[in-house]
Amino acid sequence: MHNYYQPEIETAPREKIIEIQNEKIVKQVRYVYNNVPYYKKLMDKQGVSPDDIKSIDDIKKLPFLTKDDLREAYPYGLLGTDLKNCVRIQSTSGTTGRRVVAFYTQHDIDLWEECCARAIVAAGGTNEDVCQISYGYGLFTGGPGLNGGSHKVGCLTLPMSSGNTDRQIQFMMDLKATILCCTPSYAAYIAESLAERGYKPEDNHLKAGIFGAEPWTEEMRKSIEKNLGIKAYDIYGLTETSGPGVSFECEEQSGMHINEDHFYAEIINPNTGEVLPDGSKGELVFTSLDKQGFPLLRYRTRDICILTREKCSCGRTHVKMCKPMGRSDDMLIIRGVNVFPSQIETVLLNDGYAANYQIIVDRVNNTDTLDVNVEITPEMLSDTTMGISEREAQLVSDLKAMLGIKAKVHIVEPKTIARSEGKAVRVIDKRKI
Ligand code: ADP
Ligand code: ZN
Repeated sequence: MHNYYQPEIETAPREKIIEIQNEKIVKQVRYVYNNVPYYKKLMDKQGVSPDDIKSIDDIKKLPFLTKDDLREAYPYGLLGTDLKNCVRIQSTSGTTGRRVVAFYTQHDIDLWEECCARAIVAAGGTNEDVCQISYGYGLFTGGPGLNGGSHKVGCLTLPMSSGNTDRQIQFMMDLKATILCCTPSYAAYIAESLAERGYKPEDNHLKAGIFGAEPWTEEMRKSIEKNLGIKAYDIYGLTETSGPGVSFECEEQSGMHINEDHFYAEIINPNTGEVLPDGSKGELVFTSLDKQGFPLLRYRTRDICILTREKCSCGRTHVKMCKPMGRSDDMLIIRGVNVFPSQIETVLLNDGYAANYQIIVDRVNNTDTLDVNVEITPEMLSDTTMGISEREAQLVSDLKAMLGIKAKVHIVEPKTIARSEGKAVRVIDKRKI
């Protein structure tokens, strides 16, 4: 049996979704044009007026917004309504520079929380669940978004926020949490901490995890699922569009359904801005179809992704996006070769390591260097058939096969790489410092 939070819209026929989008985009463009002088200027410059937008296909005529626009317009330049109509701000985690501040009306909060509720129900959540939310609360959108979604579903909500892992574990066990929401790196840390305290995967009451806010690989999913004894679902979002819940995974666990009644997604060629057909890899662009406080049109996320509209066995009809393959600005160019941190994670986990690693890039004598530090696992320590230098050589060779370039590998003692309670810092690029 399939469960949906809002079945009519989540399983609506494609024609119905397009009809909704057609209707909303016409209204929304007019709303933004009339209320956001910053964007009106961009439209005027491009020679496009609200009258030119008659259906969702016309969206191609609109100018893009970039993170630079958001910085330039900080703090009120992209506000869509009077501050007196807004009830909340949230802010980005500042992973890639100056923070962005987003504004929400009560209507915006309601629709955001509904999107999160859809994600929780898709992961099997009902009002009988105990939902432990270990994303940070505060300016970061993770905690507040899932908190609101959990209320809407009627779960008993544990607003833990991140950190204080002892208390996380105590509440998880004492209150029999059944759903865990946090970053995948924090989930891995919680799993490790449970094991250290002698708990086996079957000792906890968790059945599902809703993990997102940072890139994670399929290998990491398998490892978390095994170590916590759960199904791990991906969830995606960004402050600029509202927060988590822009898209979420269903039981198929093969890509995230985008809440298309609220967010219109496009994939573009990041160099030319050309819109690419479904199935192509490119930069993800979002348009909020009905937000009031911070109504961004054609916002370039810099996340690299693929969209598919193949039929999904869960019955949902909304377009799916693959796991973002890192941000375009996450991509490292090392000795001229494009390297994504996720490729390195895949090799490490396939070779039996845990996701406790750090990537250090530097430039020595005008040549880029790539160093990968990874912790040995306790099991490997007790296995004497392979020495450290052999293990390092194996990783060097497997990384070379994946990346096409040579990395220096350092296997380090357990517990020497800092654990993350929020978004993990995996890469230190000293060339930028
Ligand atoms: P910041 O840009 O400072 O990290 P946010 O907290 O708004 O600000 O984070 C949004 C970004 O986090 C997205 O653009 C994306 O790069 C990343 N992200 C969010 N969810 C996921 C996910 N499930 N998988 C991969 N990356 C994700
Ligand atoms: Zn599905």
